[in-house]
Amino acid sequence: MTRIIDNLQRIQQNIDAACAKVGRNPEEVTIIAVTKQVTTARAEEALAAGIHHLGENRPEPLLEKQETITDGAVWHYIGSLQTRKVRKVLDTVDFIHSLDRLSLAEEINKRATKTVNCFVQVNVSGEDSKHGLAVQEVEPFIEQLKAYDHIRVVGLMTMAPNTEDDTIIRNTFKGLKELQLSLAAKQYEHAPCTELSMGMSHDYAIAVEEGSTYVRIGTALVGLD
Ligand SMILES: *Cc1c(COP(=O)(O)O)cnc(C)c1O
Repeated sequence: MTRIIDNLQRIQQNIDAACAKVGRNPEEVTIIAVTKQVTTARAEEALAAGIHHLGENRPEPLLEKQETITDGAVWHYIGSLQTRKVRKVLDTVDFIHSLDRLSLAEEINKRATKTVNCFVQVNVSGEDSKHGLAVQEVEPFIEQLKAYDHIRVVGLMTMAPNTEDDTIIRNTFKGLKELQLSLAAKQYEHAPCTELSMGMSHDYAIAVEEGSTYVRIGTALVGLD
């Protein structure tokens, strides 16, 4: 298996190049190592390589890794979250990337003992297979979240369609950026909406060109076990 430190060097070069192309500062882009397909040891290798943000998409593997990795990591929950699993993960994660319905917000708010940083997941491309709210549903949804004291909407998250067509991918990311700007302009106290969680192994460079601040990279960074 390739060393994470080598993968990271290549990915960071690509992110730097994407930033240079559009005049962004690479420090605005945080790399989340998505460790859902690898062992705890491999997640520890990511930390040792200097990546402090780890992403998981299921409660059980998340909690299992957290038994060993007890400090030094910022945890991101990136998968769809069942309401009945909220209690399990709430106290152990720093960001939830998959807020997509009021019932979930209600459960998070009910169980939370402190502010929970969330991304609202948006289905920009309108694909049936994707989770997330339709673009036009997002603003009314965020308005409703005002009622939930413990929820803070830090930004928006999306997944691009699984396609080789860069134009489709780019337009998805452009759409999320446009929506993020319009929401940030509203200056909601509970929803600053300054962040964009977009870009995975095969499309993170495009996402960074289009304004991503959190890229979620699994295969290209930590590989598959
Ligand atoms: C698995 C996953 C990723 C990482 O995917 P790779 O293609 O392996 O980089 C990113 N985001 C979400 C929501 C995922 O489920």
